[in-house]
Amino acid sequence: MSVSHAPIAVVGAGPAGLMAAETIARAGLHVDVYDAMPSPGRKLLIAGRGGLNLTHSEPPETFVTRYGARQRDVGRWLARFGPAEVRAWAEGLGIETFVGSSGRVFPVGMKAASLLRAWLRRLEMLGVRLYPRHRWLGWDVEDALRFETPQGELRLRPPALVLALGGGSRPELGSDAAWVEILRARGIAVAPLKPANCGFEAAWNEAFRRKFAGAPLKTVALRLPWTGFHRRGECVVTEYGLEGSLIYAASAHIRERIEVQGQAVLHFDLLPDTPPEKLRARLASGRGKRSFSEYLRRRAGLRGVKAGLAREVLPVEMRQDPTGLAAALKSLPVTVLRPRPLAEAISTAGGLRLEALTETLMLREMPGVFCAGEMLDWEAPTGGYLLTACLASGVAAGEGVLQWLERGVLALGALGGNS
Ligand SMILES: Cc1cc2nc3c(=O)[nH]c(=O)nc-3n(C[C@H](O)[C@H](O)[C@H](O)COP(=O)(O)OP(=O)(O)OC[C@H]3O[C@@H](n4cnc5c(N)ncnc54)[C@H](O)[C@@H]3O)c2cc1C
Repeated sequence: MSVSHAPIAVVGAGPAGLMAAETIARAGLHVDVYDAMPSPGRKLLIAGRGGLNLTHSEPPETFVTRYGARQRDVGRWLARFGPAEVRAWAEGLGIETFVGSSGRVFPVGMKAASLLRAWLRRLEMLGVRLYPRHRWLGWDVEDALRFETPQGELRLRPPALVLALGGGSRPELGSDAAWVEILRARGIAVAPLKPANCGFEAAWNEAFRRKFAGAPLKTVALRLPWTGFHRRGECVVTEYGLEGSLIYAASAHIRERIEVQGQAVLHFDLLPDTPPEKLRARLASGRGKRSFSEYLRRRAGLRGVKAGLAREVLPVEMRQDPTGLAAALKSLPVTVLRPRPLAEAISTAGGLRLEALTETLMLREMPGVFCAGEMLDWEAPTGGYLLTACLASGVAAGEGVLQWLERGVLALGALGGNS
């Protein structure tokens, strides 16, 4: 086993790592990118399956609020490389983008494969070398990086290191969060990883589950009474509970509520286009001899999964109370019990605490080690906010490396701060 003095190392060939590599290589420096998987950008490719949502067209001051408690930190990265720069960057790769009806920005063709291909070609032209099947194992006692490779263990001492290892969701795509224990062992603060943009479990009755699993609930409005959250949209009833874009958008609030209360009660307006007084008037005549389902269908226009959910949730006595029923259909309380596991989530909350990093995304305790992407402790809903922040933090970390090297703080072998 040999220890070599290498070019700058980026570990993690997802959007954040590749963007850090591009930023460093554009300055004329040598960069090697290592990834545990046989090919780069696997999560990016999967993200493209349902239509790659690159970013969002809303005004920057609204855009930045999507990062909640972390908007000040993420805002710094976005000020340098925000939604407009993401679009210009994609177009520079020959991938035109368009704004969809919801304001979301997609590549024409919707897919990630052509974007990733063009990006890898550009990186190759910039001299970036990619080493797949290189799993980073941490540092040895002399602070050299350790990699498991098909040729055996490799040790490196790059002049600077960018870690862009992803979060803990969909580990089969490469981001298995093994880095958490490696960094914690070095005394670096990591907030527990949690599912974000995830589904939630509910205790459906068997008959409801069998009949409606997979059925889309559209259009509804979701209100979370303990926050100001109130939004129209769509979600899906699943075998286990609820998922889909409206649930994902609210998932941070729901997860936090469950952590405190043990459950969360979501309030659905099943008829968001019908004013309450109109619904009250329609239901006022009462059920009479009709079945409850027929009454809901005829008087309220509710059928299918919406009517099924009302039957599932409401106490039987409410079926005879037109006023109470009208109010309940506008604010149907649905209890969810727990989020689905992190491995199934779209993204990750928690991660490397931003307080452990300088503004240039260098670990305070490990000069020369920079971090980027979903492994950092921020979260955002779907809508292009995830990729935008990953790319922006990749630029920030890449520029951090350049500043660090420029300042001459570098001494070969100083990685880890004490070798
Ligand atoms: C189904 C799905 C759809 C999505 N759709 C969208 C969307 O439309 N828009 C959007 O903005 N976001 C979307 N996302 C989220 C987005 O894909 C991620 O936020 C983004 O890929 C994270 O980028 P990253 O570079 O931080 O991490 P990743 O893309 O996870 O890359 C991390 C890389 O690090 C490597 N790695 C990890 N550990 C090691 C190790 N020890 N040694 C070596 N290599 C290692 C992994 O193999 C991986 O290649 C979606 C996610 C999913 C799952």
